[in-house]
Amino acid sequence: MYSRPNYDDYTLAELFDALHSVDKEEYPENHQGIKDALARRQGSEFKCVKCGFGGYQTSDIYVSLSREESIMDVESGKFFSVSCIECGYTEFYRRQASIAGAMMDLFIR
Ligand SMILES: [Zn+2]
Repeated sequence: MYSRPNYDDYTLAELFDALHSVDKEEYPENHQGIKDALARRQGSEFKCVKCGFGGYQTSDIYVSLSREESIMDVESGKFFSVSCIECGYTEFYRRQASIAGAMMDLFIR
């Protein structure tokens, strides 16, 4: 009999790998289990403003700016998003030194 992996033993990186590779149609319980394990790890630092779920993922976004803007500030085209893994609600942040520093601290733990 198939038994569900203990997702609390996974690292964050392994959990994200599993989240993206699991077939949520075929294994909805596993998919939920992965999300719940992420929420247990991340819940102290994140709470979705829409649904209250405690798990999130981030991605970097590069926006092309006008020529003048790029010359003034080459970093200003960098953004990142934080998405709730439950409902998909996403917030965008402009990557600035202060925020990036604070967020990086959060992400590499
Ligand atoms: Zn949500």
